[in-house]
Amino acid sequence: MPRELIPCPSEAAYRRHLAHGEEPCPECRAGNLANNQLDWQASRIVAAMTHTDTEAGTSDV
Ligand SMILES: [Zn+2]
Repeated sequence: MPRELIPCPSEAAYRRHLAHGEEPCPECRAGNLANNQLDWQASRIVAAMTHTDTEAGTSDV
């Protein structure tokens, strides 16, 4: 079963570059950077929501 190569730009392709000891191409780097920023924003929002939940629970008591 031939393994299909995921074309650039993608996170898989970015990792493939790294796995091959290559420098990720600009498209992959840009995509990975965008992903990281999304992850960062998402985790920040989740943290804020968790914080709010905790505070609401504390003030409820
Ligand atoms: Zn690439």
